[in-house]
Amino acid sequence: MSDAVGNATAELGQARGALAALRAQFERHVDALARACAIDGVLDAALLDRRQLACYELALANAELLAAEQVLPDRAVAQDDVGTRLALVFAADAIVAVLGRLEAISLELDLDPAPLQAVAADVSLRALRRAATSGPALAALGARLAAEADALGTLALDEGLELAQDAFRRFAVEVVAPQAEAIHRDNLTVPESLLQPLREMGVFGLAIPERYGGSRPDDRDDTLTMLVVTEALSEASLAAAGSLITRPEILARALLVGGTEAQRQDWLPRLASGETLCAIAITEPDFGSDVASLSLRATRTGGGWLLDGAKTWCTFAGKADLLMVVARTSADRASGHRGLSLLLVEKPSFDGHDFAFVQPGEGRLVGRAIPTIGYRGMHSFDLAFEGFFVADANVVGGEAGLGKGFYFTMAGMIGGRMQTAARACGVMRAALRAAIRYAGDRKVFGAPLLDYPLTQAKLARMAARYVACRTLAFHVGRLVDAGGGRMEASLVKLLACRSAETVTREALQIHGGMGYAEEMPVSRYFVDARVLSIFEGAEETLALKVVARSLLEAALGTAVR
Ligand SMILES: Cc1cc2nc3c(=O)[nH]c(=O)nc-3n(C[C@H](O)[C@H](O)[C@H](O)COP(=O)(O)OP(=O)(O)OC[C@H]3O[C@@H](n4cnc5c(N)ncnc54)[C@H](O)[C@@H]3O)c2cc1C
Repeated sequence: MSDAVGNATAELGQARGALAALRAQFERHVDALARACAIDGVLDAALLDRRQLACYELALANAELLAAEQVLPDRAVAQDDVGTRLALVFAADAIVAVLGRLEAISLELDLDPAPLQAVAADVSLRALRRAATSGPALAALGARLAAEADALGTLALDEGLELAQDAFRRFAVEVVAPQAEAIHRDNLTVPESLLQPLREMGVFGLAIPERYGGSRPDDRDDTLTMLVVTEALSEASLAAAGSLITRPEILARALLVGGTEAQRQDWLPRLASGETLCAIAITEPDFGSDVASLSLRATRTGGGWLLDGAKTWCTFAGKADLLMVVARTSADRASGHRGLSLLLVEKPSFDGHDFAFVQPGEGRLVGRAIPTIGYRGMHSFDLAFEGFFVADANVVGGEAGLGKGFYFTMAGMIGGRMQTAARACGVMRAALRAAIRYAGDRKVFGAPLLDYPLTQAKLARMAARYVACRTLAFHVGRLVDAGGGRMEASLVKLLACRSAETVTREALQIHGGMGYAEEMPVSRYFVDARVLSIFEGAEETLALKVVARSLLEAALGTAVR
C-alpha cells in the first residue's frame, strides 16, 4: 500500500472511530431524553412538547450521523480519490455538528458532560479535522471539482439503473431544461410537450406494479429507479418535471395499501400510463401539519357523499383529472384521525390558474392558484367544495376503508418523502454544477473565482453535502424496498431538503449579483429549494413527530401515551 492510500485509510479509520464513539454518546442522550419525557416509563405527549428543542436536535443529529456513517467508503481507493475526500469532509463536519447538538441536549438535561467532551477532545478527531476540513485541505479538494463535476455522487448502481439514469439525464438536458426557465418566469402550466414524452417514458407508473400496468415488480417496491429518475428530472426542473411523479407515487401507494381490487384495476393502469393525472388534497386552511384534525366534511347522501369545505395548496389540482381528497366522513369530531377517509374526486382537466366545475347535480368545485415565489408549473390551488357529489365507488377501500384515510395517506407519504429527498438531490446537483461552471468563468480581482481558496472550500463543502445526501437516499431506498425504512425516509427527507437550501444558497452567492437575476437558473434553484422543507411533512413535524418520537419510543419500548 502506498503512503498516500495509507493516509486515506488512516483518516477513514479516524472517522469511523469518532463516529462509533459519537453513536454511543448519541444513544446515551436518546435514553436520557426518553426518560425525561416519560412518566412511569411511558412517553408523555405534554413532556415531549416541553422538550421540543432537544427532540429537534436529536432528530437532526440522527440524520447527520447516519449520513456520515453511510457515506464513508469501506476502504480507500487512493489518497486523492475525490469521492473518499468528500466523504471525509462530510463526516468531519457532521461529527462537529452532532457534538454541538448533543451538547445542547446535555445542557438541557444537565447530564455529565465528561463522556461527550472526551469524544470532542480525542486527538484522532483533531487529526481527521485537520486532514479533511482545514482551509488548505478544502481548497485542494475544491480546486479539483471542475474536472469531476459530472461524476460527483457516482454510486455503484446495477446496469438497469445506470441506463435509466443516463436516459433521464439526457431527456432532462435536451427536453426539460430548454423549457424550464419560461415555465418558471412566466408561471406557465406544465405543457403537453413535457407531459407526453414523460408518459411515453413510463414515469407515472414507477410506483405501480407491473400487473396494474406500471413498471414496478409485482412483489416489491422499486424505490431506487424512482430515485434516479426523480433526481435526473429535478436537476432540470423541480416544478415542471421532477415533482410530477410525487402525486401518482402517493396515490398509487395509498390504493395498493387500502384500495379494493376493483379500484386498483380501475385506477392504477390509468395512473401508470399518465392518461389520468392526479393531485393530492390533504392540507386545509386551518390544518396542515396536524393532519388528524382535518375538517373537510363528507356527508352521506344517496349512493355516495357530499363534500363541503376548503382545501389549500393542492398542487396540480387544475390540470389533474383525479384528486385524492382526505375528508372527514365521521360526524364525530372527537374521532380525530379515525374519522378520516380517502375520496377520489373526478373532474375535468383545466390549464391555467383558475377553474370552476359544476356537476349535473349542482355540486361545485372552484380552484384558484396561489401565487408563489417558486415551484411554478403545476400551480398549487385553493379549493372550495360545495355539495360536491362523490360516489360510494370512489371511497378508497369502500365501506371497509371508511375511517382509515389517515393510515392510507401515511402509507403513501413514505414514497412521497423518498421522492422529495431525490428531488432535493436533483436541485443540489444542478446548483453545484452551475456554481462550479460560473466560478470557472467569472474573473474577480484579475483571477477566476475558482482559483480562490474560499470559493474552493465552499464548493468542496457543497459537493460533500450533495454526495452524502445522495448516498443516504439510496441506502434508505434499499431499506424501503426491503419493507422497512419508515423513520429513515423522514430522516433523509429532512437532511436532503435542508442541505438543498444550504447548497443553493451558496451557489447563488458564488454568482454574486447575477445570482439574484431571474435570467440565471441558479435563482430558480434557490427559490425552488426553499419549499422542500415545507411540504411532504414539514421539517419540524418530521423531526418531532416521526424521527425523535420513534427513537424515544424504541429506547423505552413503548408508544406515546
Ligand atoms: C408549494 C407548496 C405545495 C404544496 N403542495 C401540497 C399538495 O399538493 N397537497 C397538500 O395536501 N398539501 C400541499 N402543500 C401543503 C404542505 O404540505 C403544508 O404547507 C405543510 O404540511 C405544513 O402545513 P401548514 O402550511 O399548515 O403549516 P402549519 O401546520 O401551520 O405549521 C407552521 C409551522 O409550524 C411548524 N410546526 C407544526 N407543528 C409544530 C409543533 N407541534 N411545534 C412546533 N412547530 C410546529 C411547521 O413545521 C411549520 O414550520 C404544499 C405547500 C406548498 C408551500
